[in-house]
Amino acid sequence: MKNFIAGQWKESENGKYSEKLEPSTGKLMGQFPSSTKNDAGEAIDAAEDAFWKWSETTSSHRASIIRKAGEIIESRRKELEDILVREAGKVRAQAVEETSGVLDQIFYYSGFERKITGDVVEGQKNRQKIFQYKVPYGVVLALTPWNFPAAMVARKLAPSLATGNTVVVKPSSDTPFTAEWIVRRFIDAGIPKGVLNLITGKGSEIGDFLVSHRKVSLVTMTGSTETGQRIVSKTSANMAKTILELGGKAPFMVWKDANLENAARALMWGKFWNAGQSCIAAERLYVHRDVREKFMKIFMDMVSRMKVGDPETSQMGPLINSGAVNTMKDFVSKATDQGFSILHGGTVPNLESKFSNGFFFEPTIIGGATQDSDVFQEEIFGPMLGVMEVEDRDELIHKANDSKYGLASYLFTSDMDFALDAADRIRFGELYINMTGPEASQGYHTGFRLTGQAGEGSKYGIEEYLKLKNVYMDYSGDRVLVNGMPGF
Ligand code: NAP
Repeated sequence: MKNFIAGQWKESENGKYSEKLEPSTGKLMGQFPSSTKNDAGEAIDAAEDAFWKWSETTSSHRASIIRKAGEIIESRRKELEDILVREAGKVRAQAVEETSGVLDQIFYYSGFERKITGDVVEGQKNRQKIFQYKVPYGVVLALTPWNFPAAMVARKLAPSLATGNTVVVKPSSDTPFTAEWIVRRFIDAGIPKGVLNLITGKGSEIGDFLVSHRKVSLVTMTGSTETGQRIVSKTSANMAKTILELGGKAPFMVWKDANLENAARALMWGKFWNAGQSCIAAERLYVHRDVREKFMKIFMDMVSRMKVGDPETSQMGPLINSGAVNTMKDFVSKATDQGFSILHGGTVPNLESKFSNGFFFEPTIIGGATQDSDVFQEEIFGPMLGVMEVEDRDELIHKANDSKYGLASYLFTSDMDFALDAADRIRFGELYINMTGPEASQGYHTGFRLTGQAGEGSKYGIEEYLKLKNVYMDYSGDRVLVNGMPGF
């Protein structure tokens, strides 16, 4: 593949490429440009040059191009699903689901045409008004992760473009081809030259340059907290606005009066969806002492029945790369050293030869881990879950809130007083009561603490891509008052 800059597919100036391996087989999938700072600068210049014209087209025209891209994606959706299976190691059903999510976001955001409103506020005296209206920022830099490589690209492109910004998208180096496929569909839909640019390359090499560039006005990034913190420090140079969707450590709470069958099914999704590589993944289970045994029996039975392996026929596929498998091994060995028990899994599974070089890990359940352990405090981002018994409501809420992350949380209970009490006291951007995620386009996806800044989705999310501007006006015809300047 190549970069897409100012309406042209281009190699990087150094002609160098990086390799992408398929997670389920470990085989080479393809190569993508190892772009330089000059390539990055060219993409930003192209976006800046295209900004005025694009921002001054009508919102209906912009929406029609976004909708058209959505229609083309819909008509060719199998291609995207295939890439997601190959490039991200998605199991087929989840590749299909993610593609539906892409379409939902594109059509949802394009529906904001002619719906952005501002305010007219009275001035300091009669015949004066202040017009407050929302305008695009300018060049948006979209940095996307590998775990939902299509949905995250769509969630950033659609609102940026709908609101009249121009975009440089730099996808994760683990999933460049998904982003390329989506960008091609926007080109097919007629996106004008320079409005949407794609550049690949390692964040560690071109990231600082991109985020601190003087022509970048907004950086929207989904990824790790570490990268988010670095971006915050680097954007002090250009004061770019940041939308940062970072790590998570979701508590999954099962109260004694819960429908245990439903809770267990939801936890299967919450933990093993996308092999646990999700920011909203259930990472720590708190279960009431009275139902612990019964609940664990139902849940562990489901875990042992889950098929891991071939993405086409399994319920759980591989992790993204070999580094992710090593992270799982490190968690297991540290947990074992600390005397915690491995209730299930803990190793790499034995799979048929076709997948023996893939990046798989068994579903792993850890018992006996303490609240201050890595299992309960650090983002695992894989198919591993710590289990802890609780018996008191305050203890449960306290432990759930005791995290440096604050994105998703889950509660299963049939006591609606308790559910509403928990909703008041839980310090997370999302609480799912008696249901699974993921977040909806019309919800505002946001987190507390180290999960980041701002949010995405809903009218609040689209407004993150708009800046409020003020125009003061006097239409009285009176002599202009220059207070504090006697004599004029
Ligand atoms: P990551 O390593 O932080 O990478 C995210 C993006 O930032 C990639 O495009 C990456 O490029 C780029 N990047 C890396 N270093 C950079 C730098 N110094 N400056 C600018 N950009 C840089 O995250 P990931 O491993 O792809 O994704 C996993 C993380 O994302 C998890 O922590 C997960 O919780 C989080 N996540 C959060 C949400 C949410 O909505 N809150 C959703 C999904 C995922 P390279 O790939 O080239 O390094």
